[in-house]
Amino acid sequence: IVYLDHNATTAPAPEVVDEMLDALQRAWANPSSTHEPGQMARRLLADARTRIASFLGCQGAELVFTSGATEANHQAILGALALARAESAGARRRLLVSAVEHPGLLALAERLAGEGVPVERIAVDARGQLDLADLDRQLAQGDVALVSVMGANNETGVVMPVEAVAARVRAAGARLHVDATQLAGKARLHFGRSGADLMSVSAHKLHGPKGIGALLVRKGLALPALLAGRQERHRRGGTENLPGIAGFAAACDRAARTLDEDLARMARLREALEDGLRAVLPPGLAVLGEGAERLPNTLCVRFHEIDSERVLGRLERAGIVAASGAACTASGTQPSHVLLAMGCSAAQARAGVRFSLGRDTTPAQIRRTVEAAARVVHPLMQAEQPAPA
Ligand code: PLP
Repeated sequence: IVYLDHNATTAPAPEVVDEMLDALQRAWANPSSTHEPGQMARRLLADARTRIASFLGCQGAELVFTSGATEANHQAILGALALARAESAGARRRLLVSAVEHPGLLALAERLAGEGVPVERIAVDARGQLDLADLDRQLAQGDVALVSVMGANNETGVVMPVEAVAARVRAAGARLHVDATQLAGKARLHFGRSGADLMSVSAHKLHGPKGIGALLVRKGLALPALLAGRQERHRRGGTENLPGIAGFAAACDRAARTLDEDLARMARLREALEDGLRAVLPPGLAVLGEGAERLPNTLCVRFHEIDSERVLGRLERAGIVAASGAACTASGTQPSHVLLAMGCSAAQARAGVRFSLGRDTTPAQIRRTVEAAARVVHPLMQAEQPAPA
């Protein structure tokens, strides 16, 4: 099969598996133990932390290992809200989140709203770019504790203007969390220079293992723990997932080594896919996020208003695996909240199909994808073509 769903997850790289096995077999002791086996595990943990921090542009002490980006997002939001409330004697309580955040983060925001926290969504424009004027308007309320904006959108690949957001948030006396899960491995990432106070990442999006990620916490920020305990400088309790952390470090090393070439190659192949689809399909192909800065690996399209599930099923039978932001439920396909926020109709927002390339995607795979689309999507599109007047 041709796997074009790298924004969902990536296969662990061989060197990742090797380092994980080594950690499992050799460094299985508890890094908190003072005996020699424990100290050996502790050295491995320290070494991995240095390598990951170097890739992410942060200090080792700013990195808190978590079970992934979902946990990191929870700690960032709950922690930053609690901190701001305490510092301002309750005056700063408001949470602003972009309308196109990951569903897990939006679910947390909704839960908080249900508990009485003032929560607002920041709009995006038709290209999926953050509406900075809307952000300014909402920051002017003066009671904002935290702004949470993703680094890049998982469905459209649209990259958010993190530095411009950071400058505004800082000027308004609030804090910024960036869910950078989709940036790592697909863009140059530097926490120190980003202007963010908090940043979430996840290893499995860059050929590392699942179940391990990190929250980067700006030095000096006394962020409360989500899980109490003394590990991770009292910021995340629980015995460290050493095999996961070792695999995460190997994934960062590997990504750092070839990042520039990988980005250039993925961008070329993404263009080839887009051009190829346009060439073989009848009119009616729309590129979502067109005109905005996008991740080099992501192409989100809709074929007229054809339900994504119909397209994805046909593509998969032809050997091509892609994805949709629209969730399939018992009551039918739910429209993607990202595409709705961009002004798509409900039918259009059920039609988004995402092709996300990886660093191992080949030109031959892109050709196969275009051929498959010509064979199985073309007839669907023609059947949907409005009849001539
Ligand atoms: N945030 C974004 C933008 C994502 O794309 C994902 C991936 O599914 C997540 C968060 C969740 O990451 P994890 O699987 O590490 O919890």
